[in-house]
Amino acid sequence: MNVLVIGNGGREHALAWKIGQSSRVDRVFVAPGNAGTALDAENVDISPTDFPQLIKFAKQNDIGLTVVGPEAPLVAGVVDAFQDAGLKVFGPNKAAAQMEGSKAFCKKILRQADVPTAEYRVFRDADSATRYIKDRFPHEGEDVPVVVKADGLAAGKGVTVCHKAEDALEAIHQIARDKIFGDAGNQIVIEERLDGQEASVLAITDGQAIVTLAPAQDHKPAFDNDEGPNTGGMGAYSPTPIVTERMLPEINERVLVPTVHALKRSRRPFRGVLYAGLIMTNQGPKVLEYNVRLGDPECQPILMRLKTDLVDILEATVDGRLGEIEPLQWDPRPAVCVVMASDGYPGDYTKGHVIRGLSEAAEMPDVKVFHAGTTLKGSDVVTAGGRVLGVTALGDSIATAKLNAYTAVKKIRWEGAWCRKDISDKAQITPS
Ligand code: ATP
Repeated sequence: MNVLVIGNGGREHALAWKIGQSSRVDRVFVAPGNAGTALDAENVDISPTDFPQLIKFAKQNDIGLTVVGPEAPLVAGVVDAFQDAGLKVFGPNKAAAQMEGSKAFCKKILRQADVPTAEYRVFRDADSATRYIKDRFPHEGEDVPVVVKADGLAAGKGVTVCHKAEDALEAIHQIARDKIFGDAGNQIVIEERLDGQEASVLAITDGQAIVTLAPAQDHKPAFDNDEGPNTGGMGAYSPTPIVTERMLPEINERVLVPTVHALKRSRRPFRGVLYAGLIMTNQGPKVLEYNVRLGDPECQPILMRLKTDLVDILEATVDGRLGEIEPLQWDPRPAVCVVMASDGYPGDYTKGHVIRGLSEAAEMPDVKVFHAGTTLKGSDVVTAGGRVLGVTALGDSIATAKLNAYTAVKKIRWEGAWCRKDISDKAQITPS
């Protein structure tokens, strides 16, 4: 069978690499891919949102399964378009992808399903949102424990965690008056600020059966000790002790199962990856958000550990027979992924720097360098994005996996390359 992966990040490189290991797969194509996917698969120069060209390519190249990596094409309806063309595709349709496409919709489903989450209100204009903040927090200088969010997709930048009234009022202004996120800001969600460690529990579902993947922890802030601006994610590791063995069945019962049922009841049956972004509060795990695709970078350490044939899982999901799949097999060793980024990211950064040392890193056992923002220039691999590489390593313990990943990182260099130095350190702060 031939498989097409849509996307060009580290997640898609990890997907293409894992899918290519299946004995049932002949050729793996990635549209548009990066320099890493060019090595492990075949790149096709088509944009992830050019549905007619993607469908034409899938038909002409006998693609038996298409796997959609990023959220934007899912929310725009790529799955519906492929299904209408009679093609097999992994991911939720447009209606179900609203779980990520609209935070207000997601909160409504969570409330209907009685899933633990932050209290919230939805506003359609700046005036009512501003009045709400001023009425609820009338005292000057008092703590304003809210989070202000643009409703739609904003590449991780639409969320402001507030402490002062000015933070909230400024965020409301930017979303609803300055329209810095465009139509994604047509609604504003204001929710209660929660405290705790965050973890990602990703599940695959065909709308009936739910298969949870090993829990992971992302590192969103740019700098060590979670300082600096938020990014797409500077590293991840899996499994994480933040989610204990004891907690997983509870998360399944209280979070994932009711969500999948509520989506079915609202006539938006979900097939694909349902990714619960959780925060471990004093009252137990609560949902911060749902994503409708694999997390990037969480996907890299997760897929590095997965031993079961990924294509079997993806196909069973598309065919609605996920319940027949044997329990997933995992490498018992943890994996740590360190993201190497361009100078200036998540702000402006330069591109086109030649990356050296990739083959030395690749020679290390139990290390895989997943590419994100890279491209080929002649025979050189050059930088082409903010997050450039996801250097991922297995180890007998989280500490060893971390050491292996950073040893590989040290072998790789380009002008301005940097990374966080503390990926996976939060594993030491386990819950009581
Ligand atoms: P992503 O980049 O994952 O798509 P997003 O834009 O969808 O992010 P959220 O995941 O909802 O936004 O929030 C981003 C971050 O903001 C969270 O990882 C968390 O650190 C913080 N956050 C969001 N909601 C809350 C909350 N209610 N209380 C405390 N922190 C929160």
